[in-house]
Amino acid sequence: MAPPLDAPDFRTIETWIFDLDNTLYQADSNLFAQIESRMTDFIARRLDIHPGEAYTLQHFYFRTYGSTLNGLMICDHVDPEDFLAYVHDIDLSPLHPDPALRPALERLPGRRTIFTNGCRKHAGRVLEQIGLGGLWDDIWDIRTLNFVPKPEPAAYARIVEVGGFAPAAAAMFEDTARNLVPAHALGMTTVFLHNGSRFSLQGPETAPVAHHNFAHEIDDLAKFLQTIRL
Ligand SMILES: [Mg+2]
Repeated sequence: MAPPLDAPDFRTIETWIFDLDNTLYQADSNLFAQIESRMTDFIARRLDIHPGEAYTLQHFYFRTYGSTLNGLMICDHVDPEDFLAYVHDIDLSPLHPDPALRPALERLPGRRTIFTNGCRKHAGRVLEQIGLGGLWDDIWDIRTLNFVPKPEPAAYARIVEVGGFAPAAAAMFEDTARNLVPAHALGMTTVFLHNGSRFSLQGPETAPVAHHNFAHEIDDLAKFLQTIRL
């Protein structure tokens, strides 16, 4: 059945950009909680501090430098490869495929890409686990970004450069609101996925992101993708 004429219009979109964690799988899998706990552990060991202190620092870095890793690289000269290998060594068994999501992604015309502050290996493992392997033209990971993470504007300039796409003909899907602000500024069509996770709209210390940065706000990615006009 064709989408109704008043359905969201994505007919000009040629490049489809998806965040990975908590966007392509449900936040209630608590997978990211595992990663966060590995981050705390890594910081406590590496900096030889109490886990409570490590947790506070981790969240300070996330708020201040875009990602915990970026803060660790800038302030503590941590080797990013050590960090990525450690924090992504997690159990993926809580993740299950959403049977509606793969066909919803397959119907999108043009190029499908992943844009993540994590690493390519983690992305590959997760995508296989949730039944979304083999769908992607590119995976832009933190190495692609030269370790400058979302929401730094340089990260977006980098994907436009390596991807060679027109931002006005791109749509970006994200569960972390602040990561859509630079995408909106570049002219991308932004879709904010409410997933109920702690960092989704903003942390408690930071003002919420203004709604005008989102072209669409949704709570079910597969359902949304099945109903848009293409
Ligand atoms: Mg995310």
